[in-house]
Amino acid sequence: MLAIPGRCWLCQLPLACPTWGICSCCTASLLQPLACCLQCGLPALSGHLPCGRCLQRAPEWDAIAYVTDYLPPLSTLIHHLKFTGTPSLAPALARLLLLRILMARREKRLHLPDAILSVPLHHTRAWRRGYNQSALIATPLSRWLGREHYPSAIKRIRSSPAQHTLTAKERKRNLKGIFRVEIPVAGRHMAIVDDVVTTGSTVAEIARLLKKQGAATVQVWCLCRTL
Ligand SMILES: [Zn+2]
Ligand SMILES: [Zn+2]
Repeated sequence: MLAIPGRCWLCQLPLACPTWGICSCCTASLLQPLACCLQCGLPALSGHLPCGRCLQRAPEWDAIAYVTDYLPPLSTLIHHLKFTGTPSLAPALARLLLLRILMARREKRLHLPDAILSVPLHHTRAWRRGYNQSALIATPLSRWLGREHYPSAIKRIRSSPAQHTLTAKERKRNLKGIFRVEIPVAGRHMAIVDDVVTTGSTVAEIARLLKKQGAATVQVWCLCRTL
């Protein structure tokens, strides 16, 4: 991906603040209001109340914040972050998520957590890529929000087949016992950062573990939420 220093990743116009990475016009078009449920993040009429799905069967986490659905141009940027070795995109994407979190805080009374965790990669994937994109997004977020980030607090204790080849039910079964939480979380409000949440089975399994170990609340923060 072509990156010109001091220019917007998307429209290539000069940036007022070079560290932002994405200009204010492109940011505004990405951060359109979302008609989604605050808890599961799926389309809903009210963003303030849990949707019908959540009333019937709530997800393991308490609230979700994300920038947009998995659509271009954000999906293209995420693809570059993950697959074309462009970790320098992470702060610009983290800033979009920060703005969305602050919007949700203002408009939906989303509270800020005590600490931030990132979803770990498979060892082989981390080794091949050389970085964990979720940790790269969580690091600047934690700094801006003044919250502790624990990049190694969730350990993957065994590998699993690639999730995208499985059905939702198989994914859930596949993830049982796959993670371990290595910090005390009892009574604490936690946020889990991931790049893209689709079925949510990975973050749900981590949220389940955190709750089992006494976490007071668990939020999911991601760049995109999609089905
Ligand atoms: Zn732009
Ligand atoms: Zn919902």
